[in-house]
Amino acid sequence: MAVLLIAEVQGGELAVDATAKALTAAAQMGEVTILCASEGCAGAAEAAAKLEGVSKVLCADDAAYGHDLAEPLADLIVSLAGDYEHIVAPSTAASKNVMPRVAALLDAMVISEVTAVVDANTFERPIYAGNAIQTVKSGDAKKVATIRTSTFDAAGEGGSASVETIGAAANPGLSEWVEDKVAASDRPELTSAGVVVSGGRGVGSEEDFKLIEGLADKLGAAVGASRAAVDSGYAPNDWQVGQTGKVVAPDLYVAIGISGAIQHLAGMKDSKIIVAINKDEEAPIFQVADYGLVADLFEAVPELTGKL
Ligand code: FAD
Repeated sequence: MAVLLIAEVQGGELAVDATAKALTAAAQMGEVTILCASEGCAGAAEAAAKLEGVSKVLCADDAAYGHDLAEPLADLIVSLAGDYEHIVAPSTAASKNVMPRVAALLDAMVISEVTAVVDANTFERPIYAGNAIQTVKSGDAKKVATIRTSTFDAAGEGGSASVETIGAAANPGLSEWVEDKVAASDRPELTSAGVVVSGGRGVGSEEDFKLIEGLADKLGAAVGASRAAVDSGYAPNDWQVGQTGKVVAPDLYVAIGISGAIQHLAGMKDSKIIVAINKDEEAPIFQVADYGLVADLFEAVPELTGKL
């Protein structure tokens, strides 16, 4: 089976973590070619070629692919699809934009958030906020899938695949990039951070969220939030962890003032070590926590940050 893996390229650079984890899943489906499509993506293509288990890298360096517009990128992918049985991508905001379009153009379904590859046609994915695992057997001639990266280890480096430059596909002219509004942050990116410190409704205000941020900065961590904290305006919505937020699986996840609703757990329960600080000893978060501290966060967090 030939597999086309759409690399995650941000600002012309390969997002190595997401791409290398999706590669581990893709390699279980067949022989993997990576597509790097962006503006100025030669460096990304070189980096992709060094990943273990890649047979070839295609590099489409064109301004049309510089801003994650789904329409031109989907047409490029579809123009290449004849040579591949599988078209896969890490499950990211960019791929959630483009892969449904690719699938529609190929008259296939999207098999989203794959967490295990059973065989080349059969995949597992979570449903009901991670409370059940669905096994999907696809009869589509082309399998279009996104990979939940938090459940796969990253492929290592040491590969030496060839890089082939390819031309852009005709731009359908359906969309136009106007501007990106990117929140600048010195902190690690939430979905790939090794440590995440998250605050919930218990934090009580945007001002007090600085307590969470202070602890995160001491730990070199990304900051997360529950939906209740986001909806209450304590934290920006790109910090939301959970079923309708981001899915994270860091080495250490610290949940502060978060009750542990299933929709929140859906986004963090695969974390390697979970620490919870909550004043309610009955809070469900303690059922998934490796370490639990029953305490008032306004005392425990400043003390912990001070000691660190
Ligand atoms: P609460 O449940 O109100 O918990 C606050 C906790 O803080 C309590 O346990 C309390 O004991 C503790 N606390 C209060 N004061 C202190 C203190 N001083 N010190 C220590 N502890 C304190 N939620 C998500 O998080 N992410 C999602 O993606 C998401 N998606 C959803 C999708 C759907 C379709 C639905 C229906 C819901 C979704 N939710 C999601 C919402 C979810 O059901 C919960 O409402 C939410 O997670 C609760 O957030 P919380 O734990 O911060 O708030």
